[in-house]
Amino acid sequence: MFCRARIQPKVKSFIWRFARGIVPTKEALARRHVQLPNQVCAFCEGELETDLHLFKNCNVVACFWLYSTLGLKARNHQSSSLSGWILDMMEVLRAQQLDIFFMAAWTIWVERNNAVWNGSDFVPVHAASWSMNLHEYQMQSSDQFSVTQSID
Ligand SMILES: [Zn+2]
Repeated sequence: MFCRARIQPKVKSFIWRFARGIVPTKEALARRHVQLPNQVCAFCEGELETDLHLFKNCNVVACFWLYSTLGLKARNHQSSSLSGWILDMMEVLRAQQLDIFFMAAWTIWVERNNAVWNGSDFVPVHAASWSMNLHEYQMQSSDQFSVTQSID
């Protein structure tokens, strides 16, 4: 219970931002005139870190989605904005899959922060299992808990 209380508000606050497309990516910070050493994606180090790139279109992240239990082909999905993609996912995924989807997005954000602040490497297959374990852990912690409730 202690652990869950420690994790949940962070996850909740992230999902709230993620669902609204207001995650503080490098591109979003630069638009607010925050000085950054660079604006490139920490995973592929090749493209501008927009939210759409970071969570969906990045090559590295595309592997992660494919390895996840959802087996998503994120790059094949046509959407011009992150929130558009999320809305589409909310339509096609069942409630439990949607929980996995949001937990996976949280994993990407955690790994991205590790990469930005600690210079660690993102290994899609490890992150995918990390995300599943976290999801199962949350499920066991509370029968009532649903990630999607965080959005309301
Ligand atoms: Zn990238």
